[in-house]
Formats: sequence, C-alpha cells, structure tokens
Amino acid sequence: MNLVLMGLPGAGKGTQAEKIVNKYGIPHISTGDMFRAAMKEETELGLKAKSYMDKGELVPDEVTIGIVRERLSKEDCESGFLLDGFPRTVPQAEALEEILNDLNKKIDYVINIDVDQDILMERLTGRRICKNCGATYHLVFNPPAKENVCDRCGGELYQRADDNAETVQTRLEVNIKQSQPLLNFYETKGYLRNIDGQQDINKVFADVDQLLGGLK
Ligand SMILES: [Zn+2]
Repeated sequence: MNLVLMGLPGAGKGTQAEKIVNKYGIPHISTGDMFRAAMKEETELGLKAKSYMDKGELVPDEVTIGIVRERLSKEDCESGFLLDGFPRTVPQAEALEEILNDLNKKIDYVINIDVDQDILMERLTGRRICKNCGATYHLVFNPPAKENVCDRCGGELYQRADDNAETVQTRLEVNIKQSQPLLNFYETKGYLRNIDGQQDINKVFADVDQLLGGLK
C-alpha cells in the first residue's frame, strides 16, 4: 500500500502514522528522517541538501525530489510506504506522480486527518510546562490536579511562547493556505480520503484501518 498522510499541526498525524506502520509493516518516510539519512550516508543529494541547510537556506525542490526518488527506490518500499511531510506543494505532488510512474507504482490513498480549526487551537494552545522540573501538562488532555501547579514538584506552570494563541493561529493559517491546493489536487485525482480526526485516537485509527483493510 502506497500512502500519503496529511493533517494540520495538532491533528494527530504522528500518532496515526505510528499505528499505520506498526500494523502494516510499511516504512514511515518522513521528510526529516529522509534528509537525515541522506546526509548521514553522504549521498550526492544528501551533501547538496546539507550545504543549503548549513547556510540556513531552504533546500530547493529538485534536491528534495531527488532524495524522495532515491528513498522510494529502495527495496523496503516494494510492499508500500507511508509518506509524511512530503509533498507539501502541488509541484512536489506532480513530481511525486512522475517518480511513482517511473517506478511502476501509484498512490493508493492520500489520508487526511481532518480536524476543525477551533479544536486544533484548543489542542495546540493547551500545553503547560513546569518551570522547575520541565514536566508537561495539557489543560484538556492531561491537566494538573491544581491549576498552574506541577503535580510532581509543586513548581509553577507556564506556556511556551510558541504555544500562545496568536502564534498558533498564524502557524495554522500558513499550514491551511499551503495544504489546501494540495488537498484539491489529490481530490481531483481521486486519491483523497478524509478521516474524522476529532474522535478518540483509537476510533480515528479504526477508521483508517477500515479504509486500508480494503487494499491488498
Ligand atoms: Zn515540576
């Protein structure tokens, strides 16, 4: 099964990715891991990517796409793969179609873990950290027994600047703006499957699992 996994920050994409690869035994190909592996192996493209990253520049598409091509050509992708974090743009998606075509493969599904923006806001702004011991809490999912006090050490809890509403809102909007054309692209191709990500984690996976059970 050849899959692309999509979802906004806070949608629970990482959790679902882990469950999918555990159950189906396909490699989880995230952009970060792929870059790190190519740099470690010092492939030509890996070194090229590194030279951009060392300068703090964006890795150009042609390099990223080359690394994806190398990765998908590896033996462990023969029975399938789960792509996560790539493609990010329609040109990258078009390049992926070309790569898969050359490898005689095609995408089975693009799974989008769908969660409303207000729920994502709640999930992403709820994190609190202990100033003293670094323990993390969540106002909704893992609240401390006493408001603003660490259960473990009694330290005061704070919110990281990255987690404040304005920053999170901006981050979500950037992501939505970027992913919408990609979702449209895959919808037109007939690959897109939206999964309700607002349910319990296990129910979300049950829905994914049911979809994937139909493959093979
Ligand atoms: Zn603490």
